Amino acid sequence: MKIFNTLSRRKEEFVPLEPGKVKMYVCGPTVYNYIHIGNARPMIVFDTVRRYFEYKGYEVNFVSNFTDVDDKIINKALEEGVNASVISERFIAECKKDMAGLNVKPATTHPQATKEIEGMLAMIHMLIEKGNAYVAEDGTVYFRTASFKEYGKLSHKNLDELQSGFREIKVTGEEGKEDPNDFVLWKPKKEGEPYWESPWCEGRPGWHIECSVMAKRYLGDEIDIHAGGEDLIFPHHENEIAQSECANGKPFAKYWMHNGFLNIDNKKMSKSLGNFFTVREISEKYDLQVLRFFMLSAHYRSPLNFSAELMEASKNGLERIRTAVGKLAELQQRAQGAASMTAAEQENAAAVKDLVAKYEAAMDDDFNTADAVSAIFELVKLSNSTADESSSPAYVSYLKETIEKLCDVMGIVTEVKHEALDSEIEAMIQARQEARKAKNYALADEIRGKLSDMGIILEDTREGVKWKRA
Ligand code: AMP
Ligand code: ZN
Repeated sequence: MKIFNTLSRRKEEFVPLEPGKVKMYVCGPTVYNYIHIGNARPMIVFDTVRRYFEYKGYEVNFVSNFTDVDDKIINKALEEGVNASVISERFIAECKKDMAGLNVKPATTHPQATKEIEGMLAMIHMLIEKGNAYVAEDGTVYFRTASFKEYGKLSHKNLDELQSGFREIKVTGEEGKEDPNDFVLWKPKKEGEPYWESPWCEGRPGWHIECSVMAKRYLGDEIDIHAGGEDLIFPHHENEIAQSECANGKPFAKYWMHNGFLNIDNKKMSKSLGNFFTVREISEKYDLQVLRFFMLSAHYRSPLNFSAELMEASKNGLERIRTAVGKLAELQQRAQGAASMTAAEQENAAAVKDLVAKYEAAMDDDFNTADAVSAIFELVKLSNSTADESSSPAYVSYLKETIEKLCDVMGIVTEVKHEALDSEIEAMIQARQEARKAKNYALADEIRGKLSDMGIILEDTREGVKWKRA
């Protein structure tokens, strides 16, 4: 398997630190609002990476954080007159709902910054001890970038260039810095903000330290893959490397993976630009599987422009796959052919195998989901043209299981859950009423049971029967 490593800027063969295991950390969202579909891109992409490793037989320890202490969360909490944790807990719950809708597997661990303060204090203390960090007069602790010779190795920036670029910039409140490149590890509280005790001041952590600490706690000092959107390369991931490698004295992540931006009108979708759609908004118009399929139709490192046309194309593409699988499911019930594959079917089965190999070759080549999706479409075409009532059950099942498996690796659900329409439910309720009138209570109960299996709750009231979805 080859992975494009931002660190070396080339594709490298994946060799795990421990055979058969993958330790993977993905930077998660800051939880102060519903996630937008730009935030959903790394979730979908790296969930697919995880699923593919699992398909290949690896055991994946997948950690993804929630940043739950941040200016934006605090501001929103002040606006609403509640504690910051009320805001973050609310949007963590909402984010998990969106992830479920996108069929993103829950991480092995979803740590939260505010629950990891102890580890942060310990790492900051260690960095000060080693001379990699210093305390300014106001109690702010800064990382001393000049102490880490390799600073800039991920973003391929040169420290001197960085310095000259920033020489003129003076950020208010950061006058205590030795060097403009230095960054905050711990900062004093401001009025009304959440804070924690520390040896330096009552305050709160900087953003970068949380990921170094959570990766260390849940995965260890050295990890296989660290991932996130490309906007995180600098300064966030550069700073994580500096903190972790100085504190632990070991190389941090072996492979750094970054997804390209989800754009709208060729501009990065972001909350600050206001050019975003939330996952929740999209879910009102589309099955979220369409969004997932849309994201995977491009290579994860390429920019991807969001448009209604491309979403329609994805919807049609997904439908084509689902129709083929639906037809195979029907054939499984009705297939009349010989129990085992005929010679012609065996030849077709060999072609199926070749397409599976094509799919795997695409995924092995830096997770080229775009080419992997093409292989699935070829499989669908082969299925449509070769499977019919005269096929053997063995051939039909092989086709169906193969398409389902390859889709499942991408988190694409091929089975369409039939959501009962209001009119269907009302017709069933009417039939139950009629059965009751005719004193056919057995039938009435049977219908009630069916409705209950469909998640419909009935309530007999004076005004008649009311219903709701569970
Ligand atoms: P944030 O909440 O802004 O820290 O972002 C959470 C994750 O979403 C990070 O990995 C970001 O890089 C990623 N992200 C944010 N906006 C976009 C976008 N428009 N396209 C792709 N990834 C994004
Ligand atoms: Zn991070």
